[in-house]
Amino acid sequence: MYVRPEIARMTGYTPGEQPGVRKVIKLNTNENPYPPSDAIGPAVAAAIQSGLQRYPDPRATAFRACAGHVFGFDPDWILCGNGSDDILTICTRAFVGEGEFVRFPHPSYLLYGTLAEVQGAQVETIDFNADWSLADEFAVPGPALKLVYLPNPNSPSGTLIAPQQIASLANKLECPLLVDEAYVDFAKSNCLELVRKHPNVMVSRTLSKSYGLAGLRFGFLVAQPETIAELNKVKDSYNCDALSIAAATAAVNDQAWLRTNRDKVIAGREFLAASLRELGFQVPDSAANFVWAVHPTAQAKTLFETLKQNGILVRYMTYDRWPEGIRISVGTPEQNELVISMLRDLV
Ligand SMILES: *Cc1c(COP(=O)(O)O)cnc(C)c1O
Repeated sequence: MYVRPEIARMTGYTPGEQPGVRKVIKLNTNENPYPPSDAIGPAVAAAIQSGLQRYPDPRATAFRACAGHVFGFDPDWILCGNGSDDILTICTRAFVGEGEFVRFPHPSYLLYGTLAEVQGAQVETIDFNADWSLADEFAVPGPALKLVYLPNPNSPSGTLIAPQQIASLANKLECPLLVDEAYVDFAKSNCLELVRKHPNVMVSRTLSKSYGLAGLRFGFLVAQPETIAELNKVKDSYNCDALSIAAATAAVNDQAWLRTNRDKVIAGREFLAASLRELGFQVPDSAANFVWAVHPTAQAKTLFETLKQNGILVRYMTYDRWPEGIRISVGTPEQNELVISMLRDLV
């Protein structure tokens, strides 16, 4: 093997299963159960008309202008990515050198660890408190600590840390704090305003979940212009293609679609949480489009496997020092009813 030892040693990130058969009810990777805005099709068709023989705009100017208007930032505060995973990669490459440290809470998004490993960086995870609040240690600066990732809302718990607390965390840390807001459109608060006041706060967003565009691959980062300018040097020149830029611009322009969709998904989430609690599951309050369910007696793995045999995919998760559970993405009302009625027979 000719690869670097760091790569040979690592196992790699395992994404949630994408079954070939379309018939399964897919509640395992937090996609939106509904198709995206009708504005997407014509926008993509127009981008094809205007000629794919040319390279795309390296800075996705049209998207940044539109998103800047919607979110209240000048375009030079925005960096676009091939999904927000690309944004996470760019930040890791830009801020963290070999042997230096990244920090993130545990249990949370497993990709952060993978990115650090590829970079040859060291990982420091800090366990959440039992109620999914952040431990005090999380805010303690470290000499070689170069990047802190904070998914908010968190996955798999769906829990949310308040912006005031994140502001105080940013003040204590002496390194960049990347608030991963992949699910924030389903939450009551977000950290965009913190970016204006705190040079070390960056906020990443994705169109994969709340805009129903996981198949598209588009995400973006909001940070101060000095930071964005540096990150632009690190990203691939053409990290977003012409079709995805056109589609993402149309999607962000259709905030009415987002509001309607969000209300439907939140209603589904509240139904799932209440029904699961009636069945004896412990379900932390979720601010995302999924719920984390831990049962005191029924084995999560068995629940997962039985649901799967019955055509419903959920995510089974085990984490060190944490009770195993299942993460269920919000589906359509019929899908939510079905998963609950099957679980009712199982517990
Ligand atoms: C889904 C997810 C992402 C990545 O989203 P993409 O834009 O599809 O790459 C990032 N962070 C968290 C916590 C997620 O759950």
